[in-house]
Amino acid sequence: MSTTLIPTDNVEAAARARAVIPGGVNSPVRAFGSVGGTPLSIVGAHGAYVRDVSGREYVDLVASWGPALLGHAHPGVVAAVQEAAARGLSFGASTPGETLLAEEVIGRLRVADASEIERLRLVSTGTEATMTAIRIARGATQRDLIVKFSGHYHGHSDGLLAESGSGVATLGLPGSAGVPADIAALTLVLPYNDRAAIAEAFALHGDRIAAVITEAAGANAGILLPEDGFNAFLAETAHAHGALLISDEVLTGFRVDPAGWWGLEHRAGASWTPDLVTFGKVIGGGMPLAGIGGRRDLMELLAPLGPVYQAGTLSGNPLAVAAGLATLRLADDAVYAHVDRAAAAVSRAAGEALDAAGVAHVVTHAGSLFSIAFRDRPVRDYDDARAQEGWRYRAFFHAMLDAGVSLPPSVFEAWFLTAAHDDEALEKILAALPKAAAAAAS
Ligand code: PLP
Repeated sequence: MSTTLIPTDNVEAAARARAVIPGGVNSPVRAFGSVGGTPLSIVGAHGAYVRDVSGREYVDLVASWGPALLGHAHPGVVAAVQEAAARGLSFGASTPGETLLAEEVIGRLRVADASEIERLRLVSTGTEATMTAIRIARGATQRDLIVKFSGHYHGHSDGLLAESGSGVATLGLPGSAGVPADIAALTLVLPYNDRAAIAEAFALHGDRIAAVITEAAGANAGILLPEDGFNAFLAETAHAHGALLISDEVLTGFRVDPAGWWGLEHRAGASWTPDLVTFGKVIGGGMPLAGIGGRRDLMELLAPLGPVYQAGTLSGNPLAVAAGLATLRLADDAVYAHVDRAAAAVSRAAGEALDAAGVAHVVTHAGSLFSIAFRDRPVRDYDDARAQEGWRYRAFFHAMLDAGVSLPPSVFEAWFLTAAHDDEALEKILAALPKAAAAAAS
């Protein structure tokens, strides 16, 4: 028999959850494994704030791990979803909204006419998007090997978990049990920003590599910034060997710039072009929605036009499309300028607080995304990220939580600001930082 009463404190909520859900969570990092303590059980969120079962509010820097660019429950997004819901939850057929969303995405990527993103297929999760991009690459090239970078996270499909970032990094795992060795062997895992390693891998296996998949800017082992020209180098090297470049913008897409990380680099003068791009998070505005974009010749390899199969009962779900479309239409230049300013203010204050407390740290930015690593030298790759004094984050995190600020519960995750972080919310964050920095010092 189930109890219908909702628990009124986080400890009781977690205990009840653990009795029926593995680890009490439906995605591992939510369990607070690396920071300890009781995970928050959230009942509502509005603007820059989330509210737990006990009724306590926190300024939120998780933003649903990225999607909430406009803040939580933006009235324009909620109204769009309500309006769509009233017309029906799912049809299993095409809708005009899907076309509008694809037009919006493709339009946003036309920066300086450089985009070759001509078609977009919608799926429900970033995991599906990267999985499908890889299948297209393998179908197009008739090759099997994939290159990925250690510390990058592309979702939880079999071939992409080796030396992965996000929860796999947080739990300190090399990969996942349950992945057949033969499948893992098709993924070559290389150190990020290491051009020699990439050149060598292509020299040895170039005629068997279907694609390089890279986070457009690494943001799942803390921020791992691509060095100047690195993405262009990947595109050139892959193309020189007849392989494709898949740029994973699930996290950066529509968050760091109206046209994602690619847009940011292009506005700064870069000229590389990925063959396939994956989107998630912001594209769905908080609903389950993701996508794969690419050149027409590659995208038309997908069924029903081509031999690469991909499908989904809920793909292009009308509620998710309504949320994504409303979010992207509301995400104008002012939104990006605000998020940039808010991120700069918080990251600067965090750095100053840690300086004052004498804690060695580096703050790394990828546009408005940033993370703090507890070490005294820059973080270039996953080995650097792992070499930090990550244990300091535990005390830092809990001091912030005690002060009413909810940070991502892992040192390997980026901090997310939103358009709803107004002066009052920012003040609360800034006021909490000195005590948290002192806690990290001890
Ligand atoms: N790719 C990147 C860069 C991500 O950050 C994530 C999720 O954090 C994914 C793919 C997987 O997306 P999802 O969690 O929607 O499956």
